[in-house]
Amino acid sequence: MYKIVLENVNNTHEYEELVKIFLRPEEYDVSMDGDTEGADLVVRNRGDKNIAKKEIYEALRELTGKSPAWGIVTGIRPVKMTGEIVRRYEEEGNHSAYKNAREKLLSYYCISEEKADLALEMYRLQQKIFGRPPERSVGIYIDIPFCPTRCLYCSFASNQTDYSETLRYMKALYREMEYVSAEMKKKGWYAESIYIGGGTPSTLHEEDLAEFLNFVRDNYLSDGTKEFTVEMGRPDTIDLGKLAAAKKAGAGRISINPQTMKDETLELIGRQHDSAAIRQAFAQADEAEIGIINADVIAGLPGETVSDFRETLKKVEELGPENITVHSLAVKRASKLVDIDSEFHYRQGRVVTEMLDNARAFLHEKGYRPYYLYRQKHMSGAQENTGYAKPGTEGLYNTRIMEEAQTIIAMGASGMTKVYFPEENRLERVPNVSNYEIYIDRLDEMINRKKEGLFNAY
Ligand code: SF4
Repeated sequence: MYKIVLENVNNTHEYEELVKIFLRPEEYDVSMDGDTEGADLVVRNRGDKNIAKKEIYEALRELTGKSPAWGIVTGIRPVKMTGEIVRRYEEEGNHSAYKNAREKLLSYYCISEEKADLALEMYRLQQKIFGRPPERSVGIYIDIPFCPTRCLYCSFASNQTDYSETLRYMKALYREMEYVSAEMKKKGWYAESIYIGGGTPSTLHEEDLAEFLNFVRDNYLSDGTKEFTVEMGRPDTIDLGKLAAAKKAGAGRISINPQTMKDETLELIGRQHDSAAIRQAFAQADEAEIGIINADVIAGLPGETVSDFRETLKKVEELGPENITVHSLAVKRASKLVDIDSEFHYRQGRVVTEMLDNARAFLHEKGYRPYYLYRQKHMSGAQENTGYAKPGTEGLYNTRIMEEAQTIIAMGASGMTKVYFPEENRLERVPNVSNYEIYIDRLDEMINRKKEGLFNAY
């Protein structure tokens, strides 16, 4: 047991997040202002928590021989953090803002050269292609929290219910969407991007999906809208009729998420389809001329080797998606995987790192470039999820949600609205409940939360 005592801190949470990257829960004990007798490490916060974290990082690197690539950074948005450092230097009139930011990422945050360059490159690219969000623009997110089955690693609000329940949910959702649309018009706000996620929105039957997407088009799409995305993650929910409905409603992007092209793994993770169904879904999307397709894959799935993952990437790339998002498996508390093997992500760390390195090189060679990334807790190897895109097809919504410099209005169960106050560069969260039945029952309260926390807030 490695005993760490923290002094002059309010809580241990952020420090513990760092310790967890090095050690398993049963291998350490972190306490604050406690008895230092027998402590392996005593760290005092002298006014800068990052310096205290650096002390921990260096001690644990020495102890374990590990050098986590994101250094002392435990937050999920390292590109946003990088952008803030660059901007601060620029505001001070510093002509070497990027160079100095890089030095700070390396020496102060202990980030590896590779990750520091990646974060800087992404920030530069995002500024070049999207810039700062226009005034009065917002992002729109709408959640359809139903899927045909629950994937082994899923930690989202994904329900498997009778279709009558889905329709009951949609009825409530329409009321929230109507309210938000009317209030946005009063405010003069418009949707810069629209993202329909979940769950799997394409679990809706064709006529219901068409009606819903047409409603979104009629109420939220405007001349200022640059992007309209519909997740159709599960190939077994896709058909030509639904794809045509999405296109007719104005959606220019969809997501089809294979996760792996290995049939045994698809079965293991709880999918009811094989890789042939994935190929068919891509062929249908091509036939429907949908525009831009994103494909998600996961590095570190149970039983998969580096060469399995390489094979998946190769096969997915051959399907021709404009975007490929490479996830590192995260074993979250709400997933079934955590019950089966809670330490899975600790063991997979090295394998996942190798998979991600392979992915970067392969996708670069195929003309994709990384444009956004985020991290999650409990990720294998404390790595990241990275969105790659063919130049000119980068996703605006994905970038804005990570940048946190624009209000995102989220509707439906588990929707987390984020209200951005530009003068203070501050976000306020206005959550909806995540259980869809409670959402239906307490819809008036959800609408009222938006009224108070969003529309009356500024
Ligand atoms: S498709 Fe996504 S939301 Fe649905 S069960 Fe799988 S991981 Fe969860």
